[in-house]
Amino acid sequence: MFDAVIVGSGPNGLVAAVTLAEAGKRVLVLEASATIGGGARTAELTLPGVRHDVCSSVHPLGAGSPVMAALHLTDLAWAHPEIAMAHPLDDGSAALLLRDPTETATRLGDDAAAYRATFGSVARHWEHSVGFALGPPLAALRHPLAGARFGRLALQPASWLARRFRTPQGRALVGGLAGHAAVPLTRIATAGVGLTLGAAGHAVGWPFAAGGSGAIVDALARRLRSLGGEIRTRSEVIEWSDLPETHVVMFDTLPSTAARIAGDRIPGRVARRYRSLRPGPGVFKVDVALSGPIPWTNADCRRAGTIHVGGTYEEIARAEAMVAAGEHPEHPFIIASQPVVADPVRAPAGTHVLWAYCHVPSGSDRDMTDPIFAQIERFAPGFGDLVVAVNRRNTADLAADNANQTGGDITGGELSLRGLLARPKVLRPYRAAKTIFLCSASTPPGAGVHGMCGHHAARAALRAL
Ligand SMILES: Cc1cc2nc3c(=O)[nH]c(=O)nc-3n(C[C@H](O)[C@H](O)[C@H](O)COP(=O)(O)OP(=O)(O)OC[C@H]3O[C@@H](n4cnc5c(N)ncnc54)[C@H](O)[C@@H]3O)c2cc1C
Repeated sequence: MFDAVIVGSGPNGLVAAVTLAEAGKRVLVLEASATIGGGARTAELTLPGVRHDVCSSVHPLGAGSPVMAALHLTDLAWAHPEIAMAHPLDDGSAALLLRDPTETATRLGDDAAAYRATFGSVARHWEHSVGFALGPPLAALRHPLAGARFGRLALQPASWLARRFRTPQGRALVGGLAGHAAVPLTRIATAGVGLTLGAAGHAVGWPFAAGGSGAIVDALARRLRSLGGEIRTRSEVIEWSDLPETHVVMFDTLPSTAARIAGDRIPGRVARRYRSLRPGPGVFKVDVALSGPIPWTNADCRRAGTIHVGGTYEEIARAEAMVAAGEHPEHPFIIASQPVVADPVRAPAGTHVLWAYCHVPSGSDRDMTDPIFAQIERFAPGFGDLVVAVNRRNTADLAADNANQTGGDITGGELSLRGLLARPKVLRPYRAAKTIFLCSASTPPGAGVHGMCGHHAARAALRAL
């Protein structure tokens, strides 16, 4: 008899398991795949000896996560690039996100004051900002003044935030950071996504996990096992009878999966809500083995861990709006990383890897390799000559790899007003029924390898135990 069985070993499932095990509970994690980790894995996707991050790669949210810090995972090291993020433009310039907020602002020239008043303000009050961005729902009510200051900026659409900036570099910086929200930049709270990620660059950096993102879940799994917890891979839970006897079940899955498995153990209105959640857009991803470093025209881009490839704010806004309208942009916005600049063990000496994806309509089967490569070539002429091997994955491949990525969604549900305020429901978002809980990125605070959904859900479950 277990105290808790967790379905799914993504970062949230593992953090939930560790939180429960640290409270002395007997915990079992059941994982469908052959390997643990869900959205935080590393594998030789192209060539032997070349290590690619299968899903997540860059970890401002991991490095800034209060629960990850509290766990003191001494066997997990962050590898920081010299420049957190660079965003090249056609004139050879680039907006840079540096660790130092003053230098970041100064390099934006005429937009220095706008940067200081927005990103700088969120970074200066990082303890509160991260508390609201990654805290439990309604955390802002505990510190109303700080909550109002953060909320005033964060709840805006990114398009409003961009209006404060005048230079192409400043506006592109806003567009690229807010583009991580995977919804049109005119949507409410897209500014909050951009501001939190930008401010994290100053507060905690945008590191890679040394050795690959898989190191994060390996460290969590080791901690769990040291506390007596158990993990079983190749153990997909299809129906309730697949679960061993347990007091509590926690789902690190889509709400619809939890509703299907739990059946009438979950109240009808909750199950209906779980089934009706809208997925975010899909993702098309490429992992590339390269014979050398990417020859970015802008020299600073060569030292950056993450590169936002998409040109101006207007181009990014257009590309994201097209995706939301069900179209494939000819010039997509690409989130790319080149981990070897900070973590050389990823590939044999002298060679490099590229991790890159763009948003596509949910369920798209379009191969976006050419548009992605064309965008990179635009800012790094000669890139194509370095390509040695490519692993490409469309939305169906992503969904086949991880049931949580249905339609290629990597955000655990769309970041709409509803997906923000009622994720997946307004009150008690982690609790499906008295002894059944949801702990995945489909609960607050949402997507990212921070483990906070798992931690908040486990605390709710502990009250039931
Ligand atoms: C391409 C891509 C790029 C990303 N980039 C970043 C990034 O750079 N930085 C960042 O912070 N985040 C990034 N993310 C997002 C991040 O990976 C996710 O938000 C995070 O992994 C969510 O964690 P989770 O535990 O909620 O779910 P997941 O990590 O999705 O884990 C869920 C697990 O549950 C298992 N499962 C599902 N159903 C069942 C079942 N019925 N029975 C048993 N097991 C089941 C799955 O196999 C999976 O292992 C990215 C994601 C993708 C896909």
